[in-house]
Amino acid sequence: MTTSFTLQATDGRARAGELRTAHGTLLTPAFMPVGTQATVKSLIWDDVRAMGYNLVLCNNYHLYLNPGSEYIASMGGLHKFMNWDGMILTDSGGFQVFSMATLAKITDEGVHFKSHVDGSRHFFTPEIAIKSQEYLGSDIAMVLDQPVAPGATYEQTKEAMERTHRWAAECKRIHTREDQQLFAIVQGGFVPELRRISAETLAEMDFPGYAIGGLSVGEGKKTTWENLDACIRYMPEDKARYMMGVGSPEDLFYAIEQGVDMMDCVLATRIARNAALWTHDGRINIDRPIYKGKDEPIDPECDCYTCRTFSKAYVNHLFRNKELTAFRLASIHNLKFLKNIVTGARQAIFDNNFEKYKINFLERYQVVDEKVRLDQKRRYLERKSSDD
Ligand SMILES: [Zn+2]
Repeated sequence: MTTSFTLQATDGRARAGELRTAHGTLLTPAFMPVGTQATVKSLIWDDVRAMGYNLVLCNNYHLYLNPGSEYIASMGGLHKFMNWDGMILTDSGGFQVFSMATLAKITDEGVHFKSHVDGSRHFFTPEIAIKSQEYLGSDIAMVLDQPVAPGATYEQTKEAMERTHRWAAECKRIHTREDQQLFAIVQGGFVPELRRISAETLAEMDFPGYAIGGLSVGEGKKTTWENLDACIRYMPEDKARYMMGVGSPEDLFYAIEQGVDMMDCVLATRIARNAALWTHDGRINIDRPIYKGKDEPIDPECDCYTCRTFSKAYVNHLFRNKELTAFRLASIHNLKFLKNIVTGARQAIFDNNFEKYKINFLERYQVVDEKVRLDQKRRYLERKSSDD
């Protein structure tokens, strides 16, 4: 299949490119805000646009369950339903079925599960995952895949990977919508050798783009980057590479450094709603009493609406009084913070200066302690009812 991706520049393994879709062109490396339920939580599209984003990620699992993908098709498709004329990428729902729903049975035909919302029973197959995304009409759809959790055995990991490959072939055979690109998902758990096999097997199937799934799901960071390295080297250079579920400011740098083009994560908006904000010096909790009386922006180097308009003291006041605007202002700041990182990275790659750009940022940025991070991730994954 002809690709819609053009590689424009490289710097080491880091890449700059552009991905053309039916609703616009994505300049990469790119971060994609998550709008699981056809909305980026607490924001309106003007906010998303003003930050410079032209692609949002929605979730097939959630929309299939509620309000239903056929229903959305009857409302004119997802773009029209949510009145967003930019690009939309939909995740197939594989990750959500395996991480949020109560699983009943997995076979090569598909997966039986109970909805995390109301306990209703469903059967998800490659065909349903594709048909549903065709109803939604996203610009980029994903194949149904089977990720494994940290701690899976080699045999479990291999079985899930091989099923992912069979499902990828079936999804490709079923997919018909020409204005929608279908990306495959590399799996292989935390076994570098399987990661390589998965990348090579899927590369032969000739998809227009490729994702790396099943990483950054609660394993240690070292494991994440080792397994990314094990597969990304074997992924086609002339196709877009999308690392799912990344991330934090520092993770964006590490992923881009290895040649990732696209990333998404709920972290920016989820922690924003808990008053955690990124700055060039690290993460702060703006609801702490120390920010009372601080008449200065959250980050003086940030050009987001929140930083241009309000003081730390004001945002602190909103959070402490549980004012709803706090969610919006905090989400705007964190999403723009990531947008600025990827925009800077793209420029640095063109300038052959990515390494220096990365070091400059990371030398100053105080990374959240690994133990704290894993603890937060574990608590989040345990709280299955939460969607993003
Ligand atoms: Zn800001």
